Amino acid sequence: FEYVRKIAREKIDSDAATQAHLVAQHYNARPEVGVEKRQESTIIRLRSFNNWIKSVLIGRHVRRGDTVLDMGCGKGGDLQKWARGRIGYLVASDIAEVSLQQMEERYKSMRNAHFGAVFIPLDCYSEYLAPRLPPDVRFNLVSMQFCMHYSFESEQKARTMLQNVTSNLVRGGWFIGTIPDANWIVKKVRSLPRGEHEIGNSVYSIKFEDIKYNENGEKIGFTPMGCKYWFHLQDAVDCPEYLVHFPTFQKLASEFGLELRLKENFHDFYKSAAQDKDNNELLTRMKVVGGYDKEMSSDEWEAAGIYLAFAFQKI
Ligand code: SAM
Repeated sequence: FEYVRKIAREKIDSDAATQAHLVAQHYNARPEVGVEKRQESTIIRLRSFNNWIKSVLIGRHVRRGDTVLDMGCGKGGDLQKWARGRIGYLVASDIAEVSLQQMEERYKSMRNAHFGAVFIPLDCYSEYLAPRLPPDVRFNLVSMQFCMHYSFESEQKARTMLQNVTSNLVRGGWFIGTIPDANWIVKKVRSLPRGEHEIGNSVYSIKFEDIKYNENGEKIGFTPMGCKYWFHLQDAVDCPEYLVHFPTFQKLASEFGLELRLKENFHDFYKSAAQDKDNNELLTRMKVVGGYDKEMSSDEWEAAGIYLAFAFQKI
């Protein structure tokens, strides 16, 4: 990771292909550690919590027999969720080919994967997916978990991403996902003293490089697109990311026939979803609570608030 980080910091330029390549390189380089090693992570509770959010979000929108597109699927962290949702067919796509291969192997070794699947390596924010899809595929659900924000590098990339989301999505179909909550992040950065542009704690850091000030000394320059920051999450992520200005996202999405149905920061999502008995039991089953000697730390809980969940419906 030190090597990837060094290359990243030295070679960073405005070339869009380089940026996407960097992200792919970062994710490809992440080792597949298996269940046991994952349990040793210092942020095991936060990981379980994020996974719980995804499970609830997916559980609310998936229907038995669905055809699903998992875009930016990584190593297949949601494969079990698709199996539990009893989907009919899965199309999985990611720019990181090594991760995608690991997902395919994982899929092949699953005993409960009673669905067909196809794995398509693709830069989903620069290239069109439709010509690569099996004939006549129509999606009921498109899921983009912790990955949509990389497309906010430019309007062109965000539009290509939305084209891929919607081109084969049925009317009434869902587009769900999880992304960093730009409001939450910007508010925190703005509350820092002048000259300081990095927020964080023992588990994460978010650092901006191009902050400007207006005549009142307030931090400005958080552009709706292409607003880059360096994100570090303990044991997980270390690469450049982009703020998603939600009103801009919503406006673009509406041009592609998508209507917003849900937008909730993870803290609020938890507070409302955990009221439900099944979701609450799932918190224990997924070891978000209980099961280990330590409960979630306050630093992990703060880091959980970085994200929001969204759901759009195609009208
Ligand atoms: N969705 C998975 C999950 O929740 O476990 C993986 C999330 S991981 C944080 C982000 C993923 O986005 C990585 O696998 C990365 O390769 C993928 N990604 C980033 N840019 C992409 C692009 N241009 N096209 C396709 N996938 C991309």
